Amino acid sequence: MAELRLQSPLQYVKGVGPKKAEALGELGFNEVGDLLKYYPRHYLDRTNVVPIGRIQIDQEVTVVGEVKAHGTLYGGKGRRYEVILGDKTGNISLLWFAGVKYWERLFKKGQVFAATGRVNYFQGIQIVHPDLERLDDDSDQMVHAGRIIPVYPQTAQLNKAGLSSKSMRKVTSFICDNLVDTIPDHLPDSVRQQQQLMPLHEAVIKCHYPDDRRQIELCRRRLAFDELLELQYMVYRNKGRKIATIKKHRVEIPGERVFRFIDNLPFELTSEQQKVIKEITDDMQSEHPMSRLLHGDVGCGKTVVAVAAALHAAENGLQVAFMAPTEILAEQHVRSWQAALGKVGITADLLTASLTAKQKQTVAARCAAGEIDILFGTHALIYDYVTFDRLGFVIIDEQHRFGVEQRGKLYAKGEDPDLLVMTATPIPRTLALTLYGDLDISTIESLPPGRKPIRTVWRTDDVRGKVHEYVKDQIAKGGQAYIIYPLIEKSEQMELQNVEDAFKELSVGVFRNLKVEMVHGRIKSKQRDDILDKYRNGEVDVLLATTVIEVGIDNPNATALVIEHADRFGLAQLHQLRGRVGRGEKRATVVALANSRLSDIARQRMEYFVENSNGFDIAEADMELRGPGEIFGVKQSGLPELRAANLFRDRDLMESARLLLERLFDQTEELDRAHRNLYTYLQHGAGRRRMHLGGG
Ligand code: ADP
Ligand code: MG
Repeated sequence: MAELRLQSPLQYVKGVGPKKAEALGELGFNEVGDLLKYYPRHYLDRTNVVPIGRIQIDQEVTVVGEVKAHGTLYGGKGRRYEVILGDKTGNISLLWFAGVKYWERLFKKGQVFAATGRVNYFQGIQIVHPDLERLDDDSDQMVHAGRIIPVYPQTAQLNKAGLSSKSMRKVTSFICDNLVDTIPDHLPDSVRQQQQLMPLHEAVIKCHYPDDRRQIELCRRRLAFDELLELQYMVYRNKGRKIATIKKHRVEIPGERVFRFIDNLPFELTSEQQKVIKEITDDMQSEHPMSRLLHGDVGCGKTVVAVAAALHAAENGLQVAFMAPTEILAEQHVRSWQAALGKVGITADLLTASLTAKQKQTVAARCAAGEIDILFGTHALIYDYVTFDRLGFVIIDEQHRFGVEQRGKLYAKGEDPDLLVMTATPIPRTLALTLYGDLDISTIESLPPGRKPIRTVWRTDDVRGKVHEYVKDQIAKGGQAYIIYPLIEKSEQMELQNVEDAFKELSVGVFRNLKVEMVHGRIKSKQRDDILDKYRNGEVDVLLATTVIEVGIDNPNATALVIEHADRFGLAQLHQLRGRVGRGEKRATVVALANSRLSDIARQRMEYFVENSNGFDIAEADMELRGPGEIFGVKQSGLPELRAANLFRDRDLMESARLLLERLFDQTEELDRAHRNLYTYLQHGAGRRRMHLGGG
């Protein structure tokens, strides 16, 4: 038999054959070298198995047990497959919602499996879509012999092709035993030594078959470093491209109308707001297109800064597109600024999906003719029928809510327009440099003066009645209130409060003498606008809402915010919701209601939320709990997906990778051979997308 090399087609690996090779090919694994990047998701050994009777909700665990029963369930949550796995201490339910047909054939009573995943509670403890390892035969022996065995991410699709975690293990162990090449290491030895990183060859093989648990982390760090290096390479490359571009439309005059607009504001801009307006407008005068991130905590007053910059562009004869993630927010922007802009001769208008066809046509025609200076809107702005005469400035509010494609489409409607993206999620510096290294950053660090700190408490939901009395009391004192619900209507799947039932109940119950309204995603936009208008004007006392009001909504007179099932929200989202109050001079209170049967993690989160009001701290804690990917939309950023690296935990590696790249880019001429090789490797590698499995 020919020797196994990195480039050998997978078909020649023992145990693969044409059919499995095809299934793997569909997932992007064609050569032996590709498959080595199919990293295990878990490892199994005797030390990390938890007795079923002792597991806790929200924990990630491995349990080992015997199949006690299995079968398809219908109704409620829809068709699903359930396996009851039991050991001496108790039973747990394993559930699959996809690939039911496949799982039906897999299980037999009495078989022994190890199952790994996060534990939930719904009428009993359960793991949804666990990773499985059948333990009756050889793996059992391996585990008992004290080996650490890899458990691979699984999908019904892979399983159908005969690639269970166990057969995948046969494949990888064969490759690791028979590979003759050393996997070439593009990292210079000096860098490896300085960072104390393993040789690549060792890291790749030992991450599948580690000698001990400590080695797993060492392998991961090496593989993570390579990923981060590639990620940052792409950021640097983008930056280089921008510097090479010269704008067609120029912004030259610092506008007189901007000053008039600022003079007319009902408040004084803070010195920080003035500073960032200057940063932005100065940058717009450069010959290269601006790419800038404006960030600052919820309520710090980013909108007025962006509007001033937009006005500056308009005064220079350019059109501006201002995109927000929700209709409510886009409408509010127009309502807040249209008149003030009009006073200085700037025309602003609105385009969202819920205008009538005729209205859309009119707005689009006026925009194409250049009659609208600043067009506010939602993602409706990116539709093909929307064109501009001279789009020179694109503003994206709550930018992490948009995908890279959506942002790109809007951008492409102009010729190298300036770009300002905004986010309320504060970003630690190292992360900002990594993810937005190609953007310049403006930061607003503090809130406008006169804001009273928000008082936040959390309570278990059995005191809901008292909380409602408290709300009544707040309204008697001249305030207004929000109550946030996780669902619109009753759901059979989740025993959660919903806004429709709450509305029916509360408006004739405890709040019967108050004006109560509700908003959610299914209320017609006209009606929703009326309600929000009335709420802002003080004609509505209590607004029941889903998280549609999460971003942006601004009513300075709201002094109470109640969040139902607060334990179901992430910290960053809770913080964003909290930002709906405390926007005026009155002191506001937030009450987070949580289930009385809370897991330790959820309890910690509640306590953290109550005790911390600094957005930066919240963002860091949230990253630690959830990983930064979700928070900063890395998944949507168009950058390569990270499989070994964690942007939060590996901040040290990220910083080293950044410094290394800075050297490659800035001192290209003086690089030694090893560094030059690395540079070339990155240049070639960046075009080739890393393959990965979605979902797992
Ligand atoms: P965010 O940064 O979260 O987008 P907004 O732009 O919505 O915050 O501003 C929050 C509130 O603060 C708005 O009501 C806005 O009018 C007000 N505001 C902004 N700047 C100031 C200021 N300098 N003084 C007082 N109020 C301000
Ligand atoms: Mg905002």
